[in-house]
Amino acid sequence: MSKEIATPNRTKEILKKYGFSFKKSLGQNFLIDTNVLRNIVGCADLHENSGAIEIGPGIGALTEQLAKRCERVVAFEIDQRLLPILNETLAPYPHVTVIHSDVLEADIHSVIKENFKENQDLMVVANLPYYVTTPILMKLLEEKLPIRGIVVMIQKEVAERIAAKPGTKDYGSLSIAAQYYAEASTEIIVPKTVFVPQPNVDSAVLRLTLRTEPAVKVKDEEFFFKLVKASFAQRRKTLMNNLTHNLFSKTEKEAIEAVLTECNIDPTRRGETLSMEEFGLLANSLLEIK
Ligand code: SAM
Repeated sequence: MSKEIATPNRTKEILKKYGFSFKKSLGQNFLIDTNVLRNIVGCADLHENSGAIEIGPGIGALTEQLAKRCERVVAFEIDQRLLPILNETLAPYPHVTVIHSDVLEADIHSVIKENFKENQDLMVVANLPYYVTTPILMKLLEEKLPIRGIVVMIQKEVAERIAAKPGTKDYGSLSIAAQYYAEASTEIIVPKTVFVPQPNVDSAVLRLTLRTEPAVKVKDEEFFFKLVKASFAQRRKTLMNNLTHNLFSKTEKEAIEAVLTECNIDPTRRGETLSMEEFGLLANSLLEIK
């Protein structure tokens, strides 16, 4: 059997054979370390009946490791030049399907229906293109896909923001947006040296385990997220200041103050100190004066 795709030599050989040149604009940093790949896959707790969805297979380094552990793998790749390469590198794995598509445009619900069994254990596992990490993760979460979770290699700084707890410097609207849908943890820190070409930033593996119900019960999701965004608009300002500048007008100050008191939230606190539950309570109460 041929060598694994993710060794430095085999990767070099494949890239040379096809005269492939990396496109920075597509976030193309390929993994050339099989240990790191096995660790990523290990975070997904896959078993032989699992299915995996990958975003951006590149030349198939991670896809191969997923194919060795799962019953079925579907990968979305935007770059047409990679299709003939994947056709060759993934030939030993007929249970892998590559879909040529921008994942942001894809109808993932339909792809799941067409390719996986009903109620199959499903994970999204990817080394994401860093230029679109947040939109991809938010699409996966907001679309409420029938998946158990998401394991992704992303920029370390973004992983830390997503998994951050209240009161820390990394905690912000992205932490709440992701943790509303999933439990988040940073699993492995990965050095730049395991990629070709090497990115400018350090990376980390983020694990998101989807909740069966959102973390808080809110009456109006759109308003809840607007409130969260407004509360973090200027991190150094108090909650009261952010709310009167970014969500309500100054004339509503007294009414907001009354709601905050009713919710037992000091108006001089900063947004970064509020827990998910407090944001939920506040969103439901402020709806009445919206
Ligand atoms: N999985 C490979 C690996 O680990 O070596 C490649 C990872 S590389 C960081 C990101 C991959 O995502 C590239 O293959 C790139 O062409 C692809 N990509 C970029 N934007 C995409 C998008 N919007 N939809 C699908 N694939 C995308």
